[in-house]
Amino acid sequence: MGFQFEVLNTDSAARRGRLTTPHSTVETPFFMPVGTQATVKGLRNEALEELGAEIILANTYHLYLRPGHELVRRIGGLHKFMSWNRAILTDSGGFQVFSLSELRKITEEGVRFRSHIDGSEHLLTPEKAAEIQLALGSDIAMVLDECIETPAPRDKTESALKRTTQWARRARNYFLECQQRLGELKQWQFGIVQGATFADLRRESAHQLLEIDFPGYAVGGLAVGEPHEITCEMAGEVTSLLPHDRPRYLMGVGKPEQIAEYVALGVDMMDCVLPTRAARHACLYTNHGRVLIKNARYAEDQNPIDPQCKCSVCGRYTRAYLRHLFAAGEFTAAILATHHNVHFYLDIMRQIREAIEFGNLAKFSSEMRARYAAGPA
Ligand SMILES: [Zn+2]
Repeated sequence: MGFQFEVLNTDSAARRGRLTTPHSTVETPFFMPVGTQATVKGLRNEALEELGAEIILANTYHLYLRPGHELVRRIGGLHKFMSWNRAILTDSGGFQVFSLSELRKITEEGVRFRSHIDGSEHLLTPEKAAEIQLALGSDIAMVLDECIETPAPRDKTESALKRTTQWARRARNYFLECQQRLGELKQWQFGIVQGATFADLRRESAHQLLEIDFPGYAVGGLAVGEPHEITCEMAGEVTSLLPHDRPRYLMGVGKPEQIAEYVALGVDMMDCVLPTRAARHACLYTNHGRVLIKNARYAEDQNPIDPQCKCSVCGRYTRAYLRHLFAAGEFTAAILATHHNVHFYLDIMRQIREAIEFGNLAKFSSEMRARYAAGPA
């Protein structure tokens, strides 16, 4: 089974499609749970399969530093190592280098940094990031891009953009050389559009990457503190320029009530740590807003987290019990909460796909936002 992406239906700019990789058939639009260290925190792979996750995201930076991509390669790749037979997308490692590591120095060659684990020095180049991801054997790999702090001044954004394009070209060339040497690779490589919050720079970045020609395109550097309207405006600028027949990935989004809005802009894929991270902090997502389960009002509440939720946690446990587990510091609390939150996100995506098929995504989106704003019962 090779790679394929097809758009099945559209509803204005929104697309209902199907992405096929050597490991999975993923209905789009989809949301990827984040498995930073080759595990989605708090969930066994069996649970992820039960929840219907067809693809997860793993972090190149973390896996490169520990256990090391060569070890993973020797073992037979990330799928085998973590016993996950469905699709995996790996990021380039760039975002974590820019946000976690110390003493980073960016040059034309790449980015030099010190590991946040043991202080060892490393150089991540566009070629190296591609090589690591080939060793990991992910289904989808991302090119190394230069991430900048926000809000970013225009001159800094322009120079980062120029470098991002140069790095994308080098990453693509490296990937294609490997393909020529080794035969057809079981991996797709995506480019990343940058340009901060400048619409013209976003367009310029998109045009430059389109010239390089990737099988899919991501929009990076958004949802990093700018207002939601700006995120949408920038994402929309880019998606309107991207080819209809290639998947589009908006990186690092989003909040439950915003997801349908991103889909409405023509986004096919998203990822975010929110459902898993919030779960560990006792924040549960429901169809009626967030339930902060530690709140005293839930002490004797015999309802499930979300009465409308069909997940196995809501089918069995009460808010009172969840609250007790969090109060007692039991790690089962995080496991149950994560299971529910990931189910909630994947269920939103199922509803969104159905809404696109019926041509009523706009209605679904406004109803979702209204319900969410009204708060929990
Ligand atoms: Zn549930």
